[in-house]
Amino acid sequence: MLLRDFISSKKGLLIDIEGTLISEIEYEKAFPDTYLFLKILKQKNFLLLTNLARKSRKYVSRKLSSMKINVPHTKIINPTIVAAIILEEKYEKPVKVFLIGENGHLEDLLEFAWIELTDHEKVNAVLLGASRNITYQQLNFAFRQILRGADLIVLGGETWSLGKIYDDEGEFLMEGAFAAALEAATGIKAIRAGKPSEIFFEVGLKKLGLDKHEVVMIGDSLQTDVTGALSYGIDVIYVNRKSRSDEEIIKKLANVKKKSTLYIVNSLNPSEVLKALDF
Ligand SMILES: [Mg+2]
Repeated sequence: MLLRDFISSKKGLLIDIEGTLISEIEYEKAFPDTYLFLKILKQKNFLLLTNLARKSRKYVSRKLSSMKINVPHTKIINPTIVAAIILEEKYEKPVKVFLIGENGHLEDLLEFAWIELTDHEKVNAVLLGASRNITYQQLNFAFRQILRGADLIVLGGETWSLGKIYDDEGEFLMEGAFAAALEAATGIKAIRAGKPSEIFFEVGLKKLGLDKHEVVMIGDSLQTDVTGALSYGIDVIYVNRKSRSDEEIIKKLANVKKKSTLYIVNSLNPSEVLKALDF
């Protein structure tokens, strides 16, 4: 089956951004096949699902439009937005939140007037995002709040990542590492608001107003997009931009409890032939 025909057989799409539609948000470079894909995306019900949270969804939307990919910020779901939805369902408003994060997290949270950002006792939740200005004081305040019953919600979850800030370029410790430290110290498990967590896909389906079988996830990450969708039960199209062999892909997914079908394409060109991979 052609990618084009498969897409038209589904009512809704969840689409990853970095590595799938574009290389990296800062490089402002879309893959050439993305523009062909966008043509078949018109008239479709879709959302962009990204783990990128240290930049706000308004920023991501602006960057995408500078690449001629026009998607309103309301169609972008990131871990901060998922965290806000979790909080809205769980607590009476206003919800008190202690945020460890960067400007992007802050900008997204400001969309929710009922979230009260505070660094005083007692908070409902600690939101832990990527922050390269994190301090001992912040971590210890978070630690105490979690001990006293606050939820720990992780915005993303990578333990480290390559990046650049000011003149500093290289490996950076990320929120996943600090979350692990807080979990170890408190003995309390964090809620992870990013892919591959089920909650991320649940929010996506709810926003689309569709059921699992009506939707397909499209992404380039085996660890987040593919693992998450397969274990949640949404069909997934893996965009194999790194030209991985079938053996390599199967090996990386060895521990996944698969509830749906994995398809592979080499690019998002609508004429690509979809290959189902059974394992
Ligand atoms: Mg990606």
